Amino acid sequence: MMLDTATLRVALAVVDLTLLLLFYFITFRRTRSAYSGWWCMALFLFLAGNAAYLFDGTVHQVWANPTGNVLLVAGAASIWAGARSLRTAVPNPWLLVVAPAITAVASVLDRPATNIWAGGPFYLASMSVLIGLACRELFLLDRNFSRVHRTLAFGSGILSVFYLARLVAFLADGPEGPVFLSVFGSVTTTLFSAVILVVASFTMAELSNEQLNQDLRARATFDGLTGLLNRAAFLELAEHELHRLNRVRTTGSLVLADLDHFKAINDEFGHSAGDTALQAFADACRATVRATDLVGRYGGEEFILLLPGVTPEVASDIAAEISRRLEAWQSTAVPRLPTVSYGIAATGHGRVELPKMVAAADAALYKAKSLGRDRSVLASQLEEKPA
Ligand code: GH3
Ligand code: MG
Ligand code: MG
Repeated sequence: MMLDTATLRVALAVVDLTLLLLFYFITFRRTRSAYSGWWCMALFLFLAGNAAYLFDGTVHQVWANPTGNVLLVAGAASIWAGARSLRTAVPNPWLLVVAPAITAVASVLDRPATNIWAGGPFYLASMSVLIGLACRELFLLDRNFSRVHRTLAFGSGILSVFYLARLVAFLADGPEGPVFLSVFGSVTTTLFSAVILVVASFTMAELSNEQLNQDLRARATFDGLTGLLNRAAFLELAEHELHRLNRVRTTGSLVLADLDHFKAINDEFGHSAGDTALQAFADACRATVRATDLVGRYGGEEFILLLPGVTPEVASDIAAEISRRLEAWQSTAVPRLPTVSYGIAATGHGRVELPKMVAAADAALYKAKSLGRDRSVLASQLEEKPA
């Protein structure tokens, strides 16, 4: 059975348009992510490029054929940009237009009025290189990035090799040669493109869903302003950690920190300066504690830390170090950074009840405030000398 190229191209255009509409309205509008935007752009360029090829064999071939080549190469450049946006920044825009520009010049100079393969080698090489670059970006992503990006990487790898094989057959056999026509001609390419478009759109949509879920999970775990754990996430993780400490009979310290006269910072320098001060405190905490410590924003200008294996005395030194770093933090946005008061409670043997520890640290914090602020007070000191 002979499949005719024009009919196949119309069928491909219908598939492409359907995918473009579905992807734009269902995936892109929901996620607004860079790579789904680039994929929409690629689908659009493939659609327009294939539409231009429908003018082959008419008087319009002279402009339509080179235009088709350029649009398809631009589509491949969009795929590369999209893949790259998953890992780092989008490439320099000039780099994105290099291959389409070379293809345009080569196609225009290669008798496009009569030659439907005008600029063929440049077009095939550009497609192979750009899709190969996209494949490379996808393979460089962390293995745990998603469940589907490896599928995309393999898909683009196969497509890149396919275009490379077409290029070799084109150069060795010529566009009218039997190998090129039967194996790598327009019919095979159109069918192959339809399969790749469907697979890629499906995996891209899945990738978007995964990213959305990761976003939601991050939002449920981390405080938006400081990037520290939020209260609920801290308490959940701290509960687990306390049980572990109790099991292995190791001590630890719980620290409650409250910025002193923080309201005055807001009043004097404005709310956004207050926000910057909160971020500065979070930075000071991150720079001071170990990766195994837990740091959370307990609420407003109160923070909470769980330091496994650390005695309250050492925790007091760590608190002093955090305050020292905060004091050294320079910013024009906040001319004066607040001091901090700390209440510290130890996880004595068998003491695994987090609410009790928080209450003890809170009482110590209250004491630190009443003693004049800018200091830490250990809960054990309160027990020895009840106020
Ligand atoms: P003290 O030394 O007794 O702790 O006094 P304070 O002024 O720090 O405590 P107070 O509880 O009176 O005020 C806390 C202020 O923190 C009031 C609130 O507007 C401010 N605040 C809470 N959350 C945020 C925030 O996310 N951003 C900013 N800029 N301010 C916040
Ligand atoms: Mg407070
Ligand atoms: Mg305060």
